[in-house]
Amino acid sequence: MIRSLLRLDNRYPVTSASRLRLPSAIRALQPLLDTEGMISLGGGMPNVTTFPISTIELKMKDGAAVVLDEGETRAALQYSASRGLPCLVSHLKSLQSHVHGLDFGRGDHDVIVTNGSQDGLAKAFEMLLEPRVDTLLVESPTYSGSLAFLGPASVNLQGVQTDEHGLIPSDLRRVLEGWEGSNPSRKKPRVLYTIPTGSNPSGGSLSLARKHEIYELAVEHDLLILEDDPYYYLDFEGSSSPDGPGRCPSLLSIDERAGGARVLRFDSFSKLLSAGIRVGFATGPAELIERIELHTQATMLHASGVSQAVVSKIFDHLGGVAGFLAHVDQVTSFYQERRDALVASVERHLGDFVEFEPPKAGMFLWMRLKGVKDSNDLIMDKAVEKKVLMVPGASFIPTNGDEHPSSSFVRASYSTASVEEMDEACQRLRDLLRK
Ligand code: PMP
Repeated sequence: MIRSLLRLDNRYPVTSASRLRLPSAIRALQPLLDTEGMISLGGGMPNVTTFPISTIELKMKDGAAVVLDEGETRAALQYSASRGLPCLVSHLKSLQSHVHGLDFGRGDHDVIVTNGSQDGLAKAFEMLLEPRVDTLLVESPTYSGSLAFLGPASVNLQGVQTDEHGLIPSDLRRVLEGWEGSNPSRKKPRVLYTIPTGSNPSGGSLSLARKHEIYELAVEHDLLILEDDPYYYLDFEGSSSPDGPGRCPSLLSIDERAGGARVLRFDSFSKLLSAGIRVGFATGPAELIERIELHTQATMLHASGVSQAVVSKIFDHLGGVAGFLAHVDQVTSFYQERRDALVASVERHLGDFVEFEPPKAGMFLWMRLKGVKDSNDLIMDKAVEKKVLMVPGASFIPTNGDEHPSSSFVRASYSTASVEEMDEACQRLRDLLRK
């Protein structure tokens, strides 16, 4: 029975560790708990009536009190499905259908709630990349949190060049077409990792034309695309309102329209509802979501039930998908104003010392320090002495083994410092660069 639940075929480059994951009997029996007339002596669940919480109440900024009633609270406090709480999963499927055009009715795509998208990414990397054997195609620069997982996992990294518009398709083509010539002893990569909107750290966003070019290359070279898109909604040139300009279609939606199943997408509520709530979700081919589910069963059982129930209630309170999208438009306007303020301060104080492109999405400004070969010492020592924190570009450069990257870039975030503080930080950096 347990094996018949599994759908894995050989279409995806799944590692031996991931292939060995099987559902536990306990987890396989859990859905049967709801069967009419079933008496369960099988579960290892605690009895919720012994817990000291009866209901959970959220005070919203709009003044409303949102209450999880006793039933909802009990469900949130108990063990639950590894895929996610059904009430939240239902909102997530509506969101993905509305925003990315997914038809879950066909059964070839699915969703799983993760402990932030970091958790989903780590599980996907483990699922797809055999240590010391496989190579991941990765933008250079890329998210340091992914590098933090991939380095110790001994995954070989092949950087692909980027500019202010994100990953450069012609460089991806060069790497793929020249692979056998340049890497005779290495397996050709089967997985591409990209941050398409307001990239962390570069702020770059892929245009629709580039997304199509990348997707076509993925088809040509049989790549699976990991679309890590936590800044998708923080797109200053798009909006959710029916009268607005709309958002750039995701790689997932391009895949869906092409009838493919080669995009595994990671979304996050960290920048939209709460980072500490640790709720993200992965959407993609059903076989791969099932592998992530098995990994979840073996590591954390499921994402926090309380967090999931709270996110689901926030969706209810906002009025479902439409209300959520109206909320994210407000968040986006906030970051757009902050972006404008930091860009103005950089232009005012650092114009002669740096080069940059104003980001069109996200939370980060990526600046090249003119005449500085490696920003590391300046940022980690001298800027810290002047009480300015930024991140040196080298932290985001994919490397293999003991290579020590250098970079003349720095990443500045316009998220939490006030407009005045951002201006002061730019003045302090200017004083350093003058020296
Ligand atoms: N991917 C990228 C590109 C990020 O910038 C971040 C957060 N800094 C994450 C993933 C992880 O986000 P979460 O809080 O959802 O785990």
